Amino acid sequence: MNAKNLSERLRLVASFVEAGTVVADIGSDHAYLPCWLVQNGQTQRAIAGEVVKGPFESAQRNVAKEGLTSQITVRLANGLQAILPEDGVDTVTIAGMGGTLISSILENGVENLESVRRIIVQPNIHAIAIREWAVSNSWRVIDEAILKEDHKIYEVLVLERGNLAYSPKELLMGPVLLKACSPIFIEKWQSELKEIERVITALSNSVLTDETQAKHLQLLQTKELIEGVLKS
Ligand code: SAM
Repeated sequence: MNAKNLSERLRLVASFVEAGTVVADIGSDHAYLPCWLVQNGQTQRAIAGEVVKGPFESAQRNVAKEGLTSQITVRLANGLQAILPEDGVDTVTIAGMGGTLISSILENGVENLESVRRIIVQPNIHAIAIREWAVSNSWRVIDEAILKEDHKIYEVLVLERGNLAYSPKELLMGPVLLKACSPIFIEKWQSELKEIERVITALSNSVLTDETQAKHLQLLQTKELIEGVLKS
């Protein structure tokens, strides 16, 4: 993958970026996504934020190599601290991390989201953490997508401001994905179900503490919820 030849996963993220926007890509190790967005005329200006020095330098090198330093600013910063008020950022993308880390990046930088209208995230796992963060912070899920690339299944969530309540099923599996119920979605949840059953069996064969007992109960509820969807 490079800035010209973007992965299907990042292309899917890019497909939700509206034309003429100013994007901050957080955790932008090679700055491939911002480079692609600017080169394809989808974004006028972009910020590439990266917290680790090595990946930050690699992002800087790629932006320079592509001749995009006047349109893309690369910043060494933790999470949304990469966004300054004068940037006029209206779209944030965060891809390729766990849902818990993405939601903590959003939570720790809520004040930097003032000018932001749309957040596009691609959690590798645990998308529920982002949907829960959205509900608690007055953002709603306006779209979702799922794809399989290199034997891995990825979800993309698009958030805009607004208040909506979701059922436990919608929080876990995604309100839009649940409605669409695509073959990849079914494959994902069949595989998640197998893993949950494996952990339940392991817990059932061990001495349970209060903590593992609570986990066991939670897994049984999740299993029931997934089975209900897969049967319907
Ligand atoms: N976004 C790219 C993608 O989807 O291909 C890179 C994903 S890479 C697995 C995750 C990147 O996020 C790493 O370079 C990591 O250093 C960076 N990262 C993790 N936590 C971060 C934070 N709090 N702020 C900025 N960058 C962060």
